[in-house]
Formats: sequence, C-alpha cells, structure tokens
Amino acid sequence: MTHVVATPPLTEIPVAGSSQTFPVRRVYCVGRNYVEHAKEMGFTGREPPFFFMKPADAVMVVPEGATGEMPYPTRTADLHHEIELVAAIGTGGRNIAAAEAHNHVFGYAIGLDMTRRDLQGEAKKQGRPWEVGKAFDHSGPIGPIHRASETGHYVKGAISLEVNGAPRQGSDISLLIWNVAETIEHLSTLFELQPGDLIYTGTPEGVAAVSRGDLLVGRVEGLGELRVRLV
Ligand code: MN
Repeated sequence: MTHVVATPPLTEIPVAGSSQTFPVRRVYCVGRNYVEHAKEMGFTGREPPFFFMKPADAVMVVPEGATGEMPYPTRTADLHHEIELVAAIGTGGRNIAAAEAHNHVFGYAIGLDMTRRDLQGEAKKQGRPWEVGKAFDHSGPIGPIHRASETGHYVKGAISLEVNGAPRQGSDISLLIWNVAETIEHLSTLFELQPGDLIYTGTPEGVAAVSRGDLLVGRVEGLGELRVRLV
C-alpha cells in the first residue's frame, strides 16, 4: 500500500551517550503538580492528579550541547515557561501499581511545557479544552533522554529555570504532589501506557512570560541543561 500524502516524520529524542533514539508515541502532561505552583494558579491542597496531552510532533528536540530555537507562537501575548522533569516510558502497561512503576520508566529528560497562558486562561474561563493553550507546535522543547539505569529514578533533585541568566523557577523533585511512580499509577488507570510515551510531570512555582530573543536555560540535577532561545 502507498500513502496518499507524505508520511509524517517520527519524533525521535536522542538518548544521552549513545547513537540510539527514543521514538515518541504520546505526550502526557500533569497539571498543577507542585503545591507552590498550584497556589500561584489559584488552587490549594492536594487534588487528584489530572492530565492533558500534547501531540508527539509538538515535541521540539534539542540535542546535547545545542541551543534550540523555538519560534514565538502565534495568537498569544503571554507565552509562559514551565520547566519540568520528563519521564520516558520504556515498558507499557495498564493499572500499574506505584511500587512497580519505576520498572516501566526507560529514562528521564528535561522538558519545557510552553504555554499560551492567555489562551489557556480563556479556555478555563469558558470551560473549553486546553489544546490551543498547551498543544501548539514547538510547545514541548526537550533535551536528551538519560537512561534510568545510569541516573537512577527521580524522587528528588534540584530543578530550575533561568531566563537571560536570571533565576525564574527553582524547586526540588521531592516536592512533586504526585511523584513519578504515583503519576504512572494514576495515568495507567486512564490509558494503557506504551513504550514511547512521555510524561511531563508538572512545573514548580515561578512561571512567567518570555519574549522573542530570551534565552531559557533549564536544569535538573543529573540531566545537564536544556537551552532554548525564542526566535
Ligand atoms: Mn506543565
């Protein structure tokens, strides 16, 4: 059989320290997963985790040592950064218990859940879906995936973002409301996870707007840094 249009390219993320890549199937994201960020968004307390998605081709791959160039998106005047730890699923499953969840993680990366906050805010107000705020092209910059066999599984570790050299976000993975294992437990009751799935685990406090020309440098302890310039 032949296709009637060009085959969409597969999104592939380099695996650190190797020539192999991680093919992306789905991109799940966790909302409001650090207490201080939930507060800055007007919420308090521990609510059950909730999820949204980005399309796989919204993932913008930034190779090791490179500075990715993210086009400033259309139809927004309030583009926000959200620095996040990303877990990459290596083994699928459904109804995965938290105690088993780490066995399903191939590795970890630094990601940015870039957000058109004005469009997301309007969607929230109107009770509409979040796609236009969250799932636009280039909205998910990501660095190389580091094998969990080398980094260990993330239950703690510093996470931060600076913009033009000034600190904007800073926290610790231990402050996740729902940690990686618990997130997988919940998510796998809603969807059957598959190899190639990414989970953006949520952002700490300090989200704010960026402009064309700004340089974003995100760091997660043990994963190096993710550099993105808005163009
Ligand atoms: Mn986020």
